[in-house]
Amino acid sequence: MEDQFERIRQISSSLAGSMTALRRELHRHPELACREQETRRRMLAWLDEQGVLKKCTVREPLIGTDLVLELPGTLAGTIGLRADMDALPIKESSDLPHASQQPGMMHACGHDGHMTMLAGCAAVLVRMDMPRPTVRFIFQPGEEEVCAGADLVEAGVCRGLDEVYALHGWPGIERGMIASKPGVIMAAANSFSVTCRGVSCHGAVPEKGKNPLFPAAELITRLGELHRWIAREHGGVVSPCSVTGGESTNGIPETAVVRGTVRYLAEETGELIKQEFFKIIRELQITSGMPFDTDYRQRYRIPVINDPDSVRKVLDVAGALAGADRVRVLERHSMVAEDFSFYLKQVPGCMFLLGMGEQHPGLHSDRFDFDDSLLETGAAVFAGLATRR
Ligand SMILES: [Zn+2]
Ligand SMILES: [Zn+2]
Repeated sequence: MEDQFERIRQISSSLAGSMTALRRELHRHPELACREQETRRRMLAWLDEQGVLKKCTVREPLIGTDLVLELPGTLAGTIGLRADMDALPIKESSDLPHASQQPGMMHACGHDGHMTMLAGCAAVLVRMDMPRPTVRFIFQPGEEEVCAGADLVEAGVCRGLDEVYALHGWPGIERGMIASKPGVIMAAANSFSVTCRGVSCHGAVPEKGKNPLFPAAELITRLGELHRWIAREHGGVVSPCSVTGGESTNGIPETAVVRGTVRYLAEETGELIKQEFFKIIRELQITSGMPFDTDYRQRYRIPVINDPDSVRKVLDVAGALAGADRVRVLERHSMVAEDFSFYLKQVPGCMFLLGMGEQHPGLHSDRFDFDDSLLETGAAVFAGLATRR
């Protein structure tokens, strides 16, 4: 087994230059959620160049731009490894040579790095002749905003999988450290938008209209109370994040809109928050005499929950590859959401983090750039997971 890991280390390291080139090419050409056609093409081209396609079957896309490959194994079982493909509608502020060439878009969440490490893993595995289960490489579109992972799982991407893994680069954790935790590692996220419909009139004669700013203000106060209760009792979050309505100092607007996010660590808490939320909405419509249009979205409705055995496997493999001092168990979950939760609802597995350093710009920062020196570590850990039983 140790020889095998030594081979994985050597091959990953020999691929470092080629992975860096791919990662930078992807960074230069970001594409937004579910429009990753070029990205898909680039991945296929690199995998072909590395001799991966000759040994894999490439599946027909299930939801448009997904790329799913299967590398047959000699042992029973199928392991899934997943990377996300999409960039964000953020304008890159760095002047790196490989900075985004698409105005207003960039890989600010490191998905360029995730795809590269997964492709690197495939390139490692096709160079190794050894007994291992079948490996399914899943390049998933639309992780950001649209939660396409839910659609891909719904379309059957997990069918036949025995275990599934994904990794996310993580600023704030020591560089090169592999970290995870059993149970909840990331929260579920819902969002809401409430439009209070009043009647516009001159601010001097409010009795001639209905001022929607009052119920909007009350809604914010009530959501603050709901948050305090949910945070105390269930570790969840209810955050109003935006309020709009009115443009002048003397005109009462027709509408006021309150928007925000909800986070929680158990699906039951999500249902509880939703119930309480709509209770407040109903009460305020009655007391204000104004109708509300309420849009409550539960796309990322499932928290990311790791299977303890799979976490142990990740930490074992990473420890064997990178050294026991390079792995750690996280003490706390993150309130960030990730649609990998839908995979883990169907198949036992683990989302793990690859530390990018305390000083690294945060996820979704306009200065984010995946650290290429970490690509070989990620590729090696993925490959290790695919070979260890
Ligand atoms: Zn993100
Ligand atoms: Zn991400």
